[in-house]
Amino acid sequence: AAKTRQCGSLIYHAQLDVGSQESLSLLSELRRAVENDELRLFLQPKIDLQQGRVVGAEALVRWQHPQRGLVPPMQFIPFAEQTGFIRILSAWMLEGAARFSQQAREAGLALRLSVNLSTRDLMDQELPAKIEAMLAPLQVAADSLCLEITESAIMDDPERALSTLEHLHAMGLKLSIDDFGTGYSSLAYLKRLPVDELKIDKSFVMAMERDLDDARIVRSTIELAHNLGLSVVAEGLETLKAWALLAKLGCDEGQGYFVSKPMPQEQFVAWAQAWQPP
Ligand code: C2E
Ligand code: CA
Ligand code: CA
Ligand code: CA
Repeated sequence: AAKTRQCGSLIYHAQLDVGSQESLSLLSELRRAVENDELRLFLQPKIDLQQGRVVGAEALVRWQHPQRGLVPPMQFIPFAEQTGFIRILSAWMLEGAARFSQQAREAGLALRLSVNLSTRDLMDQELPAKIEAMLAPLQVAADSLCLEITESAIMDDPERALSTLEHLHAMGLKLSIDDFGTGYSSLAYLKRLPVDELKIDKSFVMAMERDLDDARIVRSTIELAHNLGLSVVAEGLETLKAWALLAKLGCDEGQGYFVSKPMPQEQFVAWAQAWQPP
């Protein structure tokens, strides 16, 4: 019975109290995961929709658990955010993405690597200094990294987030608003934030071929982004038809299962070298 409970605890429940027995055992499992090298950095390609070229990749974490197999991020990221463990995970992802970018360049591929940050990371005033120290020994320009942040992560404490983001942007890192259109957003903040890119949430992109409202939201978001001088990425690109429509609307980049699912980083260079636009 104890074992079943432990298995169940892996799946995040909003009710999982920080400090409870279940929560403590998951936290120690996560710590062990880092020590035992169980985390995996997966990459999903980002494509220039006009040219069809691979221009970047989003880094997505997986947990290669010795008993449970490959655990998807939604089963431990919310918990990691709650407990603050996310800062360790984010640092691990940032360094992995930077190292991969250097490796890819050595193989002749210029890629910008996107990494997801959470609200906890934005509240960490040491984050810019940590990233600077992480990049220093590597041959990687700051603008080879893009940080994806959701609207809700920013709106938690907008003033503090703004100060961290301004610092990161001044260092040369690119900033992207993830899941755009789904959160509680404020256009007034969007104007003040030093962002470079909007990422249209996959729910709109996946529905736009059958729902006129979704299609209008996608079109308006592309216009809004361009009017603000931002580049725009569509996630959830699942069909050739969606690609054609997005390209016609002037969307800059796309990411989705039509191009590729996220893959282990070790496979990415070979995949990109073999990639042929449709
Ligand atoms: P996200 O940042 O919105 O990432 C995109 C998610 O959409 C990924 O799920 C990706 O596999 C999925 N996706 C991509 N293309 C398609 C498509 O065409 N169709 C559909 N149905 N789905 C698609 P994944 O890898 O399971 O990640 C889920 C979420 O977990 C991410 O959503 C992000 O919020 C979080 N996450 C993943 N890795 C990290 C990480 O390293 N740090 C943080 N803070 N969060 C992470
Ligand atoms: Ca993302
Ligand atoms: Ca997203
Ligand atoms: Ca998301």
